[in-house]
Amino acid sequence: MLILISDAFAPNLPDQISRFGEVTDDKERIKDVDVVLIRSKTKCTREYIDGAPNLKMIIRGGVGLDNVDREYAKEKGIEVHNTPQASSIAVAEVAMALMLAIPNELMRCHTGMCQGEWVKKQIKRSELYGKTLGLIGIGLIATEVAKRAKAFGMKVIAYDKYVDSSDHAKLKPSAEDIYKESDYISLHVPLTDETKGMINKDSIALMKDGVVIVNTCRGKVIVEEDVAKALEDGKLRGYGTDVWFKDPPEDSPIVTAPNVVMTPHIGASSRENLLRIGDIIESKLEEFTAKNK
Ligand code: NAD
Repeated sequence: MLILISDAFAPNLPDQISRFGEVTDDKERIKDVDVVLIRSKTKCTREYIDGAPNLKMIIRGGVGLDNVDREYAKEKGIEVHNTPQASSIAVAEVAMALMLAIPNELMRCHTGMCQGEWVKKQIKRSELYGKTLGLIGIGLIATEVAKRAKAFGMKVIAYDKYVDSSDHAKLKPSAEDIYKESDYISLHVPLTDETKGMINKDSIALMKDGVVIVNTCRGKVIVEEDVAKALEDGKLRGYGTDVWFKDPPEDSPIVTAPNVVMTPHIGASSRENLLRIGDIIESKLEEFTAKNK
């Protein structure tokens, strides 16, 4: 069996899975590959799949499967797996880091210090304590965010189109309720036809003045131009984002908008998470080998 490691995983992964077959990172060998291991960079489109006639299994280390043409893979009899349970804590910690950086003006403090400026008097901090956090989606990651936000003394509310109970957030009947009531909004939905562009000028208009939005789900869940404009107008106090229209962003108005805290899609990239993902990949390969003996 030829296993292609196509994206960045824990450095020990090749050794960990070598007992299942030959492990390569040479993408030129795609024609002969049986199993491909991807994260978000490799796009398993119809063309990609057509170029891999031997392919039997795709394992996406991480959550979102929007970079895999699942329907076409199914048509071709290719198994597709992801590792949704592995990444929740890693992403939730990045969401909290972004959420904390904005009211504490960490970027301004840090840049000031780097430039020899003592910005103490200009900084107008505020606290998360006592504020309302609205979660859009209350799945695995949002639940971890909710637990952490509660530890900070936040009131946590959530809207999820497909979930009607949560032990960690008070559920609201519509996204509009979240927009109207929240001081902080954290986005945790998959990218689908329903969620694409859901944060736009109309939804922003419903939000409180000075709201902070944190996005660790997908860049396309927002309309970048509308968010950038709301930041310029001061309607949004801040936007913390780990995710982009395109990795890395090209000509994104978010990059140059004021009061943005940005990370380069590192949500799932903690050392601990990559090790957890490696363990899940190992067990998927075990199951696959047992089935195909
Ligand atoms: P999850 O499936 O556990 O939770 C997603 C939730 O969104 C579900 O409860 C679902 O019912 C809800 N939802 C779906 N459509 C909705 C809609 N139209 N309106 C309201 N709610 C809706 O997934 P998760 O593990 O919490 O991950 C959430 C997303 O985070 C992933 O889909 C992925 O895009 C993103 N993600 C990003 C990173 C990163 O590196 N930044 C890493 C992992 C996941």
